[in-house]
Amino acid sequence: ALGLVVATSLAACGSSTKTADQEQAGGTEGALVGVTMPTKSSERWIHDGENLKTQLEALGYKVDLQYAENDIPTQVNQIENQITRGAKLLIVASIDGTAITTQLQQAADKKIPVIAYDRLIRNSPNVDYYATFDNYKVGVQQATSLLVGLGLKKADGSDGTAKGPFNIELFAGSPDDNNATFFFNGAMDTLKPFIDKGTLVVKSKETEFKTVAILRWDPATAQKRMEDLLTKTYAKGDKVQGVLSPYDGLSIGILSALKSSGYGTANQPYPVVTGQDAEVASVKSIIAGEQYATIYKDTRELAKVTVKMADAVLKGGKPEVNNTKDYDNGIKVVPSYLLEPIVVYKDNYKATLIDTGYYTADQLK
Ligand code: BGC
Repeated sequence: ALGLVVATSLAACGSSTKTADQEQAGGTEGALVGVTMPTKSSERWIHDGENLKTQLEALGYKVDLQYAENDIPTQVNQIENQITRGAKLLIVASIDGTAITTQLQQAADKKIPVIAYDRLIRNSPNVDYYATFDNYKVGVQQATSLLVGLGLKKADGSDGTAKGPFNIELFAGSPDDNNATFFFNGAMDTLKPFIDKGTLVVKSKETEFKTVAILRWDPATAQKRMEDLLTKTYAKGDKVQGVLSPYDGLSIGILSALKSSGYGTANQPYPVVTGQDAEVASVKSIIAGEQYATIYKDTRELAKVTVKMADAVLKGGKPEVNNTKDYDNGIKVVPSYLLEPIVVYKDNYKATLIDTGYYTADQLK
């Protein structure tokens, strides 16, 4: 009876009947890879996790995939568990890029390599590689799409015919996510000449990263901030004409604050609202003429690059990187592989998202 109980509980763990020690002794053949993702509350991370798992399993690895619902202690525990279970490599999309230093030291002590996924892990020497998109460029593209929507630029980068001035407001991502600063810097470098000339006016005067950042990328927080901006700054009849939003989830919150305040009608159209991730709801919103643009980052490609990296490292080789200067994590420059983001507008969503097989036409109906 005892044997049966043990066998059942092992099966319930979803692992094979090998113990962690046997797994560790078994070379990299069928090795366990620990994958930790921040949250399921945003679609992209669900795709990221699934893509990584499928592609790693196709190479014969075992995968422990965990989501932490944006709770730092949960992510810390998940990483500790993976180390205890004998993981041979960790792939981490961190919630707070500075909060897992102790766990990464434990990994390093056991010679477990670590790949930072999408978000840089900061303040630790124990990050071996980083796979991501060109995050500064994402910010440039977000700002460019705002300028295009306002008519100040054309999609090909040439000057537009509009003159302005236009009222805009700015939002940034979570301050504990290294990407958020890169997005904001890319965007502000692009908008600054227009702000300096007075063509763009940040009417609330809230232009500092720390003032406009939205903790944990929370849509409800963004909605609340937009509501507050509308009551504080736009009560006397002034209208907001553009909103820099760094992520589709925030864009949805921002648009719903605008809607409650009377925007989104024939007389008072929505301002130009940007985004990121090409999430289904936002692409539908773009098709409906509400959100103006988003940034498409093919998570299938990111998983592919990361799995190639992981496989090379596990086999004792050196993975391919294409950037060894931009991602200083406070302790070292982490060798990185950067992918190219793409702007999605209403007039190119079919070519970028459907023709590439990222979504089916039905999903966007
Ligand atoms: C990712 C973005 C995403 C954001 C919120 C960032 O780290 O790079 O793609 O929109 O997190 O989940």
